[in-house]
Amino acid sequence: MSTDREIRAELVATVRRFVEREVLPVASDMERCDEYPTAIVAGMREMGLFGITIPEAYGGLGLDLPTYIGVIEELAAGWMSLSGVLNTHVMAANLIKMNGTEEQRERWLPRMASGELRGCLSLSEPDAGSDTSALRCKAERDGDEYVITGTKAWVTNGTRAGIVALAARTEEGITCFIVEKKPGPTFEGITVSRDITKLGYKGIETVEMSYDGHRMGSDSVLGGPEGLGRGQHFILSALEVGRINIAARSVGVARAAFEAAIRYAQERETFGKPIAQHQLIQAKIADMGTQLQAARLLTEHAAALKEAGERCDVEAGMAKLFASEAAFTIATESMRIHGAVGYTTDLPIERYFRDAPLMIIGEGTNEIQRLVIARGLLNRYPLEG
Ligand SMILES: Cc1cc2nc3c(=O)[nH]c(=O)nc-3n(C[C@H](O)[C@H](O)[C@H](O)COP(=O)(O)OP(=O)(O)OC[C@H]3O[C@@H](n4cnc5c(N)ncnc54)[C@H](O)[C@@H]3O)c2cc1C
Repeated sequence: MSTDREIRAELVATVRRFVEREVLPVASDMERCDEYPTAIVAGMREMGLFGITIPEAYGGLGLDLPTYIGVIEELAAGWMSLSGVLNTHVMAANLIKMNGTEEQRERWLPRMASGELRGCLSLSEPDAGSDTSALRCKAERDGDEYVITGTKAWVTNGTRAGIVALAARTEEGITCFIVEKKPGPTFEGITVSRDITKLGYKGIETVEMSYDGHRMGSDSVLGGPEGLGRGQHFILSALEVGRINIAARSVGVARAAFEAAIRYAQERETFGKPIAQHQLIQAKIADMGTQLQAARLLTEHAAALKEAGERCDVEAGMAKLFASEAAFTIATESMRIHGAVGYTTDLPIERYFRDAPLMIIGEGTNEIQRLVIARGLLNRYPLEG
């Protein structure tokens, strides 16, 4: 019988081969054209990745977070956007798995596990990013229904999603709703009002969505009646998974940039020797390799804690903060090592350089991570007496 470690290694190796065969040959061209990777996403679905952390009882693979981050690293090393196709889907599924009623789990998880229903997470608004207390989107009760009005911003996967984990204001406070919709730009009072053009993270959509009187049953309140007003609490826990995902993506992008730099440094010669023989280049390679290793260990540690059910806001924040800054630095250093050619579209280095900054901003900016980490550490080490 295979151990957890063997199952993890096998799936990660399968995804790595998939990336080498199906992703690397086309990623840069598709990214440049901002083309949605339909065939690649179908392949991810065939491998069962949309159900990776969903329990087997609901049709998923039932694998743990450490396996999930191994898969995310492989996908991101090929093309960072692919990890984004999975991230908010997994967060939405995790919200339902952890906080949904049994009826809600049975209603949504099997179709999410198969990839038939794809999920997204809709917290941010045009005037509420870091400051979630400024959320304005509201859900008003009307008999046995809720009526949603407001504008949500930065919804990754929003157009193609069939499930939206939506944060909206109710009388009780912020509540998380599970909105089931038909994929596409319009659906019963929901309109994709803007497709946002980005520096990187291309190929998958990040959109603004307007709710103009969208109606849904009260059974869409995540967690049932007890879930009313508990949305912020639910989403903060889901964000820990999101931050670990961002850390793992950062490790993937950093690894790709680092490996390209190591190869190039041994091939390219100046002043009669490979540039890898110049000590200033060696110093870069040493720093990049050390940062990459530290980023991976922090990410694995946070994933193991979360999987064990322990509180890990500090560790998820540390992993996200360190790994994203490392990815940004390593992508930039890789470009320097490549010289002029690193600045061209002949190589994927410029793509890593454009993708890396998202990780500094997404799932809570690194300024906010520092606040979360400091608050958590101060709580852990209170003054005695
Ligand atoms: C490509 C992309 C995809 C995204 N996908 C999603 C998604 O799928 N779902 C979703 O809900 N959101 C998504 N987001 C939104 C993302 O989570 C927010 O952009 C992020 O939380 C920051 O919010 P903001 O952009 O409004 O910045 P603001 O909150 O306006 O912050 C602006 C600046 O001020 C700093 N700042 C704010 N408050 C403080 C403080 N107290 N102390 C110090 N500095 C502070 C910030 O760090 C930042 O530097 C996405 C964003 C991007 C760019």
